Amino acid sequence: MAKEGPSALAVGKPVTSLATCWPNAGKLAANGYTRNEVTQRNVATQWKAPIAEAADPGTKTMKNLLDKLTAMGPFQASKTAQVLLKARYLRPDPHSGAAESTEHLFGRVADHVALAEPAGRRHEVANAFSLMMRSRCFLPNSPTLMNAGTDSGALSACFVLPISETSDQIEAQTILIQRSGGGTGFSFSTLTEDQDPLAWIARLDRATDSIRQVGLRRGANMAVLAVDHPSLLQFVTAKTDPSRLVNFNLSVAVTHAFMQTVLDHGRFDLHNPRTKDIVTSLDADRALHLMAQMAWLTGEPGMLFLDRINETNPTPHLGTIQSTNPCGEQPLLPYESCNLGSINLARFVTEAGDLDWPFLAQVVRLAIRFLDDVIETNQYPIDEVRRQTLLTRKVGLGVMGFADALILLGVPYQSAHAGTWAERIMRFVAEESKRASNELAKKRGTFPEFERSTLASGPPVRNATTNTIAPTGSISILADCSSGIEPLYALAMRRLILGDQQTKEISPLLVPMAARFGIDPESVVARVQDSGSFDEAHDLPPEFVALFRTAHEIPWQQHLRVQAAFQKYVDNSVSKTINFPRQATARDVYSAFLLADRLGCKGVTVYRDGSRTGQILEKGLTQPIEMQQPTGGTQKAGPCPECGTTLNMTGPCRWCMHCAWSRCDEAPRSPTTLNRANEPENRKHP
Ligand SMILES: [Zn+2]
Repeated sequence: MAKEGPSALAVGKPVTSLATCWPNAGKLAANGYTRNEVTQRNVATQWKAPIAEAADPGTKTMKNLLDKLTAMGPFQASKTAQVLLKARYLRPDPHSGAAESTEHLFGRVADHVALAEPAGRRHEVANAFSLMMRSRCFLPNSPTLMNAGTDSGALSACFVLPISETSDQIEAQTILIQRSGGGTGFSFSTLTEDQDPLAWIARLDRATDSIRQVGLRRGANMAVLAVDHPSLLQFVTAKTDPSRLVNFNLSVAVTHAFMQTVLDHGRFDLHNPRTKDIVTSLDADRALHLMAQMAWLTGEPGMLFLDRINETNPTPHLGTIQSTNPCGEQPLLPYESCNLGSINLARFVTEAGDLDWPFLAQVVRLAIRFLDDVIETNQYPIDEVRRQTLLTRKVGLGVMGFADALILLGVPYQSAHAGTWAERIMRFVAEESKRASNELAKKRGTFPEFERSTLASGPPVRNATTNTIAPTGSISILADCSSGIEPLYALAMRRLILGDQQTKEISPLLVPMAARFGIDPESVVARVQDSGSFDEAHDLPPEFVALFRTAHEIPWQQHLRVQAAFQKYVDNSVSKTINFPRQATARDVYSAFLLADRLGCKGVTVYRDGSRTGQILEKGLTQPIEMQQPTGGTQKAGPCPECGTTLNMTGPCRWCMHCAWSRCDEAPRSPTTLNRANEPENRKHP
């Protein structure tokens, strides 16, 4: 049986610096630590030796790792994966025009990325990279899979651009990045009300459309606006018009002070960002309710807890973080880029009901080596991005297949054990990632800004950040595993891919787990094919059904607890959709915003089932998919009960653009028809 990872889990105060859970980092702790810190310190000192040797090139350990990955067999693509591979990832042969094989795809990527390695060991490392992908243990973000070894060579998925240049320049830079397959994030908080942030967003939205028209993959954007910006109300209600900003996800950047003002039922000031003059003030609780009601109605805006993000900014001397990438999981400084990769946890579950920790440790270290090599072999679309990225060398290794791994471990997602496993796994991945970055630093040097960074007092590291939980929308399809850290969306579902192709899927673990429980697999599949989940009137073993609860059956509080458990050990951020059933209320969304803050999340994204038509994922195999045409638009609806201003109304919601008063009737007659930027799994990502 595999040796276990860290034996005790510190469940308490979030670790704000990973250095505190590092070997020998306990001695860094000063006097006067709290009880929780003592726990952290004890765990840190228990963690004395690596659980497995690094699989360095030329060593016996590397040979064993290669043997193990080889033994996992050839890449197996599901039907959906085959469609996706053919459309997006497999390159045509320049001579015959025939699509490359998946074997060639992984070889192409591995050979290109391993160019960063010294010539003598390049072949061996490339072989290891290729096997790590072929075995579905690890996949990098889509641009790396698509562009490595091609003329493009642009490998990063995440970029943030500053809005300090002219709009022409920003538009040109956005187009360059999106043509390379990357997604762009922007903060519009520095623009004044007169400069009209919404008009800037609309312009960049049209620029993204123009890329789509030339047949390339549609770009994705994030727009962030500070909660104290005078355009706040226009921003948070922008998505009630279904035709607007379809290529943007919107997030409000809130501060600790704002959240405290909500709890205190106080008012907060909106400022001119240039002069800092107070423009007006709003009731904070009412503003948060309006955000919650809009998110209930449309899935947007999301929230970013910007103070918390900056508390863990490793290089504050280089600037304040103002925005994230399109899906929110990667906070970046202006002009920074980051490349991401994800480990498929389901591949590490042993028959004895544990994870193969030493194997996981080696794959984590190999994956960090891969991502650091990507920084070297990447083609940067803009010079400023190259300069800024090479200063911090941020990478983001995360996990996918978490829900699958829990099922294989026999742990229901909705149980407290799921949170414990989340912490245990992520802590392990984070520690091994830092260890790998430290090993690289010894050979290749630290990131250039290390000495001036907040990490300077700890062990030297090659990368300013190492971990990010990405949404993995496409690569989890390729790996045939559950998406990111999300629960199963449905046990039987139809998925709309590539805009117009529909595939039917049965959760791949349903049949093998039924067999393990001695249940007839055919009868199980028959039960779920209409609704996509088990109804209450089943006669199946409850412990079997408990393993297969789906996203809308799992309480939203548990979604948040799992997100927060991962966030504790992730130095960047966590992509997670907090799924609500159709009948959830706007009050539930409001409560989720408060709880996300209290649990220490860096952001929160919600989605209520059916709040938009034309979902990418539909539960069950049999019900016809409703494809409603947009009917939206905003009407006027009587005077505001608070201030008398004429209210705006969309579907079941009314709101005041003067004082932020809002109300949604909680049983909408029909789904509102809004744009699809923020669907489950489908907050737009590159
Ligand atoms: Zn009003």
